[in-house]
Amino acid sequence: MDFSPGISYFLGQLGRAFLDPGSHASLLSLAAALFIALAVVAARRYRRGRRVRLRSLLRALFPAHIVSSKSTLTDLGYFYFNVFLFGIVFGWALLSYELVSHGTAALLKSTLGGSHPTMLPPLVARSIITIMLFLAYELGYWLNHYLSHRIPFLWEFHKVHHSATVLTPLTNFRVHPVYMCIFLNILAVFIGTANGVGDYIFGQATHQYVLSENNIILVFFIYLYVHLQHTQLWISFTGWLGHLFMSPAHHQIHHSRNPAHFNKNLGSCLALWDWLFGTLYVPAAAPEKLEFGVEPDRPHAHTVRGEFLAPFGRAAAVLCKLIERRPPPVSLPAAEHERA
Ligand SMILES: [Zn+2]
Ligand SMILES: [Zn+2]
Repeated sequence: MDFSPGISYFLGQLGRAFLDPGSHASLLSLAAALFIALAVVAARRYRRGRRVRLRSLLRALFPAHIVSSKSTLTDLGYFYFNVFLFGIVFGWALLSYELVSHGTAALLKSTLGGSHPTMLPPLVARSIITIMLFLAYELGYWLNHYLSHRIPFLWEFHKVHHSATVLTPLTNFRVHPVYMCIFLNILAVFIGTANGVGDYIFGQATHQYVLSENNIILVFFIYLYVHLQHTQLWISFTGWLGHLFMSPAHHQIHHSRNPAHFNKNLGSCLALWDWLFGTLYVPAAAPEKLEFGVEPDRPHAHTVRGEFLAPFGRAAAVLCKLIERRPPPVSLPAAEHERA
């Protein structure tokens, strides 16, 4: 039996995940997050007059109870699934963003008439579309996240992410494939539409700036603080910064078990859409005491059965309840039947 295609697929995915500098899990971006985290902890220790030693910094950042937690092991399992298997299992269910983009541009052309190629320098046109697509990504992310919290059927799948009882950068990958599938389709609609509008405005295909096929602004935020959102290191943006950007503390608040924090801070890199739609909670400068995890003591927590299979059953139960609650169909009086 020839295993070489499987092995080369595995190695290709591994390379794309860790070595592409623009990927969500690139080693370079993880190193940047580690460097920032070390600098923050070292500066805080120094200000408090404590000795700054690499060993104690690493111990503060990687406490044993987090590294060896069952929750972290589940994060690792989901990381493996989402990097290596998601495309194989669910790739067929994803809408093509190019299709949406071409459709949008064609629709605009047929309703508003043709457009002329822009006179703007390519640098300006490409910068504008890069910003447009980043904002569209953030809006799509916010909407999908909002629906996942507000619609009970979808919440059963998103709950998997919130059942993490400790936060590590791996928690970012702890997302159920059904959530991921809906998210990627919503993204295709938002990014495809924005790209189609851009192509129409500029009168030609205009390409965003990318690094490893990812929007360069998104990559910038991945390096700056996206990994730190799933850590227990309190770095908060307050004031106007806290209204625009989703600091690590913003997202830690999102994971909090305190009811005052439920359904808040649904954005990815930006707090902007949360601010506009009334779901923003700006964290305090001083650390707030937070506990993480939905129903942490339920049976089969952090197992394949509890975090992968059970959401299907619970979502089906939500649907069944909905169907049972529907009023019975009104039957027409006999005379109506005769007339029909
Ligand atoms: Zn959430
Ligand atoms: Zn999260």
